[in-house]
Amino acid sequence: MDYSKLLLPTLKEEPAEAEVVSHKLMLRAGMIRKLAAGIYSYLPAGLRVLRKVEAIVREEMNRAGAQELLLPAVQPAELWKESGRWEFYGKELLRFKDRHERDCCLGPTHEEVITDLVRRDIRSYRQLPINLYQIQTKFRDEIRPRFGLMRGREFTMKDAYSFDADEAGADESYRKMVDAYVRIFQRCGLEFVPVEADSGAIGGSFSHEFMVLAESGEDAVAACRACGYGANVEKAEVRAPEPEPVAAAGPMERVDTPEQRTVEEIAAFLGVPPSTVAKTLLFETDRGTVAVCVRGDHDANPTKVKNLLGANTAELAGEAAVRQVTGAPVGYAGPVGLPVPVYLDQALRGAGGWVVGANQAGSHYRDAVPGRDFRAAGWADLRTLRAGDPCPRCGQPIAVKRGIEVGHVFKLGTKYSESLRATFLDAQGTERPLIMGCYGIGVGRTAAAAIEQNHDADGIVWPVPLAPWEVVVLPLQVKDDATARVTADLVRGLEAQGVEVLVDDRDERPGVKFKDADLLGIPLRLTVGPKGLAQGVAEARERKSRAEHRVPLAEAAAWAAAWVQERRT
Ligand code: ATP
Ligand code: MG
Repeated sequence: MDYSKLLLPTLKEEPAEAEVVSHKLMLRAGMIRKLAAGIYSYLPAGLRVLRKVEAIVREEMNRAGAQELLLPAVQPAELWKESGRWEFYGKELLRFKDRHERDCCLGPTHEEVITDLVRRDIRSYRQLPINLYQIQTKFRDEIRPRFGLMRGREFTMKDAYSFDADEAGADESYRKMVDAYVRIFQRCGLEFVPVEADSGAIGGSFSHEFMVLAESGEDAVAACRACGYGANVEKAEVRAPEPEPVAAAGPMERVDTPEQRTVEEIAAFLGVPPSTVAKTLLFETDRGTVAVCVRGDHDANPTKVKNLLGANTAELAGEAAVRQVTGAPVGYAGPVGLPVPVYLDQALRGAGGWVVGANQAGSHYRDAVPGRDFRAAGWADLRTLRAGDPCPRCGQPIAVKRGIEVGHVFKLGTKYSESLRATFLDAQGTERPLIMGCYGIGVGRTAAAAIEQNHDADGIVWPVPLAPWEVVVLPLQVKDDATARVTADLVRGLEAQGVEVLVDDRDERPGVKFKDADLLGIPLRLTVGPKGLAQGVAEARERKSRAEHRVPLAEAAAWAAAWVQERRT
């Protein structure tokens, strides 16, 4: 492909709008352009990379026995009402009406549509198991679209859905997808870890996320070096602390704490350790508002709150709600006399009497004791695991790292087959609900994650399997006949061996061309320059290692093709 004819608009300047490296480099390398918040056009170089990711995904899904189909992006509300998600999916679901005033949405995910398809066309256990997948555009009206393709509103996802007759079959389908995912992300050249995850809005019984480890990751991942346990910290269990003898507490007393708001301030002001100051946080959930007390130096975990209540959503209450429930400004909530259920984190056991907010500005209680001074709805693991906490499996100190979630596999069970009545007849002729799994991969996010892990000061450093072109041929004097002849021969030789070649035929200074080749991250560069020509060699340079080789022109195509071949997956 000739650079001069391509829409490949590279940028010298750092785009101000981009915060993370992958977003900056995708813009600078002319891969994407923004149309609106979270909505991007893919330019030729960007599309080539996405197609590479898709091809790997497709090959591995097919190898695992899944069948590709394509479902509509526009979905009728009726199906979502049947599953119950029309109500609870929230604002991420882009809803609209058609000309007949019928409610519709743009698919953020396709459990409803696939279950509807399968309930009509699958009747018998003989048709099971089956795994159906698509690679398609999703729309999620994300509250904070950012980081380019990493968190878009419109994005490409591979989503697969498995249907089985029994639990053992469903577990096997799940395992096959985990294996396929491991192969996919390995083939993409990524460093990743599969971790235990919360099932989130999709629902279901258990799930794993595939996390690409990178500083810019939006997720925190607990990873134990000793035993290999890994979990999203949303989900990671915290070990119950050893029971300690409870220190006897005196009677509860109210103390003035003017202008003391943070745990540190209050602990210092009252001369107590921060661990005996209990924070009280209000959560608004679809099962009502609840209060959660955690140790002052700990963080309450909304996912654990949600799961404890069996709720679909749990969010920290805003200022207005806090005022309404506690009658006090933010910073003074406490469990005593609170009109909502109060749940206590297990780490508070044994703390004796606590310092808690008195639901009044500038006022706290000391020596508040659950059971005596206020009613507790229950004790549970409600805090977020921290680096250095004991691993929930082996007890060794655990590390917390940043990760980008590129894939997510869920065991759904019968959640959707029951609500949508998708059943089959088993061997005995009994009607039973299908057992489902669902499996997603973000295509654009995977490409972005690859850049987060593979770049340097000069630009992208594509792993060969994801590179938009495998080799860039760079003639230095495009107007020189000998250069043109040698370049054309080289390109013909490479293409004859199936190598994807970009030819930088632009009449530009060498410096400009070298810079762009580096920015684009093409794994191998072959320069045809006057010095080399005189000696009958092409100058090869590896993008990643920067190693240079002088290769006789007659062998250059075969040499480069072999170099590429070795690095394909
Ligand atoms: P997140 O927690 O990051 O919002 P999710 O849990 O909502 O993701 P899933 O429903 O599991 O995502 O979707 C499957 C995959 O689709 C994710 O693993 C991710 O790779 C990708 N994905 C999800 N949301 C986005 C988005 N807004 N932009 C790009 N890719 C996305
Ligand atoms: Mg997810």
